[in-house]
Amino acid sequence: MNCIDEKLQPIFSEVTRRNCGEPEFHQAVHEVLESLGRVVAKHPHFLDQALIERICEPERQVIFRVPWVDDSGKVQINRAFRVQFNSALGPYKGGMRFHPSVNVGIIKFLGFEQTFKNALTGMPIGGGKGGSDFDPKGKSDGEIMRFCQSLMTELHRHLGEYTDVPAGDIGVGGREIGYMFGQYKRLTNRYEAGVITGKALAYGGSRARTEATGYGNTYFVQAMLQTKGTDFEGKKVVVSGSGNVAIYTIEKVQSFGGKVIACSDSSGYVVDEGGIDLELLKEVKDVRRERISEYAKAKGVGTYFISADKGSVWDVPCDVAMPSATQNELSGKDADTLVKNRVIAVGEGANMPSTPEAIQVFQTAEVLFAPGKAANAGGVATSALEMQQNASRDSWTFEQTEERLATIMRNIHDTCAATAEEYGAPGNYVLGANIAGFVRVAEAMQMLGVI
Ligand code: GLU
Repeated sequence: MNCIDEKLQPIFSEVTRRNCGEPEFHQAVHEVLESLGRVVAKHPHFLDQALIERICEPERQVIFRVPWVDDSGKVQINRAFRVQFNSALGPYKGGMRFHPSVNVGIIKFLGFEQTFKNALTGMPIGGGKGGSDFDPKGKSDGEIMRFCQSLMTELHRHLGEYTDVPAGDIGVGGREIGYMFGQYKRLTNRYEAGVITGKALAYGGSRARTEATGYGNTYFVQAMLQTKGTDFEGKKVVVSGSGNVAIYTIEKVQSFGGKVIACSDSSGYVVDEGGIDLELLKEVKDVRRERISEYAKAKGVGTYFISADKGSVWDVPCDVAMPSATQNELSGKDADTLVKNRVIAVGEGANMPSTPEAIQVFQTAEVLFAPGKAANAGGVATSALEMQQNASRDSWTFEQTEERLATIMRNIHDTCAATAEEYGAPGNYVLGANIAGFVRVAEAMQMLGVI
């Protein structure tokens, strides 16, 4: 890890003391504080009013029990969280994650990242995140519905279109959003469409929301490639993951003339030198909800399935890597392999998928590196567009919405690049994203007084 400026060191020590046993949160805060040394050197007023300390402390954290009855009649208990991190720019906004690994530290790191990401979009949204250690894998539709309803029975009192607006994340897609919105509507007796995003078109969703995170990351990487006079045409691309983000990354990269040759899930990865067959992948993952090995089985010759413990998807030589699975999925060793294989650009579709060591390797090798809080902001930005459509009771075309998304991604890219340049680190998108996101939130907080 790089160093934190000595003026900021006490802030980091306090964060680790107050949030012990939460390594992902420490990692996310450390990365931002590393960048802020240059800000406070130039603008010492950002040290006033304990602004940075306040940004590192969530405004509110809710932890609650979720009891539900499984198909065999047995009562199950899960724990759920909503961390309302920062509302200086707008209502708390961020997804819900259902995964057994979820704990308060994971949700806190995600909420912290979300605050800067949302600021970068330029939309009026604060930062928040939630989730549960519930594992949707292998659960029936009825079990998923009863879990979502029980969760919302508590969560609804903390939400509202002007208060806190959840959406999806890992393990939470259209089906779960529908059940949660249904229960919210029933409990509040209000058709408050703007209280949750990622809805289906049938009841107030936005066109292009499903595609937005993957498309957005692809637009961002394209903008980075263009700074070097190149683009996706003819490039070999590896995308990790096979969920919503990965699928629509593959779709957009293919439409830009790139060739995606590998993708993965938690059990392994497939290499398809002819280019990933997107329709088959959608069928296996989206419709049948099966493991990626089924893709390999269906495709037969020319496709290989290798269990994750025999290697990593990052061993596959490529020009562009787009990690779109989960946090810390790409290690320093993986980064070494990618650099050895001459990767030229990395765009993070997931939240914090590269470890600090991996980022260091990419930056030392001068690989174009787009951090998640900038590159994957297209999802939440389109959520804000969904809120806008709900507020005006309007519904935009796919083209109109995608155009807004493309403009937002271009602006985020240019803002990060210009900020990095201004602070003496041209090409450092990590620094640019951290500083630009921070300044937007901090300036608003200053104007609002000590709250
Ligand atoms: N979970 C997504 C993210 O990490 C989307 C959040 C949202 O749309 O509110 O940004």
